[in-house]
Amino acid sequence: MKLQKIGLFKVLFIFFTLLLVFSNKDVSALSYKHSIIITVDGLRADSLSTANLKNINRLLKYGSHTLNASTVLPPITLQAHTALVTGLDPRKYGIELGFWKLNFWTPVLGYTDKETIFSIAKKQNLKTAMFVGKSKLKYLAPKGTVDYFKVGSDSKEIASLFCVYMEREKPNLTLIHFPEPDKTGHREGWESKDYLKALEVVDASIGFILSEIEEIGLLKDTLIVVTSDHGGLHKSHAEPHPKVVEIPWIAFGSRVKRGYRIEKNVFIYDTAPTVLFALGITPPPHWDGKPIKEIFE
Ligand SMILES: [Zn+2]
Repeated sequence: MKLQKIGLFKVLFIFFTLLLVFSNKDVSALSYKHSIIITVDGLRADSLSTANLKNINRLLKYGSHTLNASTVLPPITLQAHTALVTGLDPRKYGIELGFWKLNFWTPVLGYTDKETIFSIAKKQNLKTAMFVGKSKLKYLAPKGTVDYFKVGSDSKEIASLFCVYMEREKPNLTLIHFPEPDKTGHREGWESKDYLKALEVVDASIGFILSEIEEIGLLKDTLIVVTSDHGGLHKSHAEPHPKVVEIPWIAFGSRVKRGYRIEKNVFIYDTAPTVLFALGITPPPHWDGKPIKEIFE
């Protein structure tokens, strides 16, 4: 009789434990195995309708998006990418601003001393990688935080470096940066035909990446975010004009709402906590960025 009672207790214990586990399915249902952030350097939000960007627009159509997300000030590449991976608004860590003002063209900047999505992912034993078109982005990858860091000369090379690595190592968290639109914008202007063409080249690389992820069977376990570090006006992106500071922010994945327009004001530094949240990791509470939970079903 006594033994039977203990047995019943065990059964009930297991039953309630399972109930708890399943009632917590919000988090587990959301746990993607892979998050990929793609930044298109200098992608101006209005280009999504003026250039022929069929892959980016496909992600927008079948995912969640806003074309009015905000980058940081000053709207420059390293500053914006730092905000993107640290979840921090740079106005609050001004000490590094001075450093960058002196030195932001130089690749040898040392490393960020802030926690990044990569350092946090490594603590969870996840695999991390970066494929970029500007070597100064190494600043975001202190030792031990990014397992594989590669600089490519153009989007085609960067995309294929990524695809080879993705197939072999299946990293959990990846940042891919495409440089050409910014370079063409500075040379020819953000209103030029060449700028739109540079975007179309990047768009083709995004298409290449999407078909690779699908081919190796990882699409349903992957959250993809496509965004930009800044737009541009004429031949620069120095002034805080809406065409410079407003950026597109697009998320696509099997549990992301389709054709959904994000209502919240999105900031570039919301990217970091959103991808961590998608990977089932609680973002640091002190971060300025907050996960954009409304995109998930
Ligand atoms: Zn630039």
